Amino acid sequence: MKSLYERSLAVLPPVAKRATKLGIIQGQGAYLTDEKGEKYLDFAAGVGVANCGHNHPTVVAAVEKQLHSLVHGGHNVVYYPSYIELAEKLVRRVGADYKVYFSNSGAEANEGAVKLALSVTKRSGIITFNSSFHGRTLLTAAMTASNAQYRKNYEGVLPPVYHVDFPDIYNTNLSEKEEIARCLNQLQQVFHNVLAPTQTACIVIEPVQGEGGYLPAPKEFLTKLREICDRFGILLIFDEVQSGYGRTGELFAKDHYGIQPDILTSAKGIANGIPLSAVIGKSEYMDQWEPGAHGGTFGGNPLACAAGIAVLDIMNNDFLQHVSKIGTYFTARLRELQEKYPIISSVRGLGLMVAVELRDKSKEPATELVSQIRKEALERHLILLNCGVFHNVIRFIPPLIIEKSDVDKAITILDASLDASLRKVGEN
Ligand code: PMP
Repeated sequence: MKSLYERSLAVLPPVAKRATKLGIIQGQGAYLTDEKGEKYLDFAAGVGVANCGHNHPTVVAAVEKQLHSLVHGGHNVVYYPSYIELAEKLVRRVGADYKVYFSNSGAEANEGAVKLALSVTKRSGIITFNSSFHGRTLLTAAMTASNAQYRKNYEGVLPPVYHVDFPDIYNTNLSEKEEIARCLNQLQQVFHNVLAPTQTACIVIEPVQGEGGYLPAPKEFLTKLREICDRFGILLIFDEVQSGYGRTGELFAKDHYGIQPDILTSAKGIANGIPLSAVIGKSEYMDQWEPGAHGGTFGGNPLACAAGIAVLDIMNNDFLQHVSKIGTYFTARLRELQEKYPIISSVRGLGLMVAVELRDKSKEPATELVSQIRKEALERHLILLNCGVFHNVIRFIPPLIIEKSDVDKAITILDASLDASLRKVGEN
């Protein structure tokens, strides 16, 4: 019998190519089962989606219950309880001065956030960061600057977006202070040379860069951005599509920094796998968003909102503390590996949004080695993802319910995979 991968070749275009050839039929907790019945420890969680664990019983029960009362209402036609209740719960967690608008994907939420900023400021300038990722629609592809592949055939129609370096304190000889100053100086250059701050509608930033390499922004950098935005009436937008929903040990990474964005976008883990995203914005701006200016048929679907309510109930303080605790343990175990394998140039991250970067003796990105490690790990039944503009960073983004024993298992496999890969690929 043909595998799912083999069957895909006849009916799917190359754009739908997967990172692995794995065909999956079931998920449970931190594990996925493939079509042959083999179990895999999932340190990808569908790229940070199954944050409560695959098929969490509370989420499943909530969706099942909703299925029997209302599957679709149309949020642009009527009001229904799950939509309102989820918005109420989110506002309770994020702050009473925010309001919420639901859509289906991260890209769609980012589109919404930027459109809101453009319309309330009546300005046209958009600033994002190098090595960022914000989505693959035309606007969000223009905002994205982590891979030319996302933009190359569309340059002519991409809206203008200016990009500034994101501080990378792990690959520089500069001190953290100097690196922050360098990036802020670039922002000043943009303001001086091409886009006046008074023409700038928004600055969009991932507080922890995801696809770009799991780089937590230094607090001082975000503080300075907040000050600049306040001074010039620019809206500060946090893209928390990857860093949100418990991933960093807080509901949103903004809480690590104690900085309030004007708008925050969320998706991925928000409904533990049912498509849902949110624009969470300060009421003073959200209240100016004209009816019909933004929308979509399926946004805030009742099933997705029911799942979202269950997710927020699961993500209480104990849950978030567990993420921090396991994240600290995991990071310590990764540092042990770093001592054994000097090719690991840095270990970084927050909570369970952690990564190791691999660079050879001459500090060149060890891209091929990372690719080999992922293959070796998969053979040993551990699913890993890479990230970083040179694809030389291994990111660990497991379901947040993992226990110490899962971390130990992953470390043992990673150790064996590093060892085998270094033998096969070498350091260059
Ligand atoms: N923003 C960030 C930070 C992301 O990581 C992603 C997805 N990797 C997106 C936006 C896009 O989300 P989606 O794929 O749901 O459109």
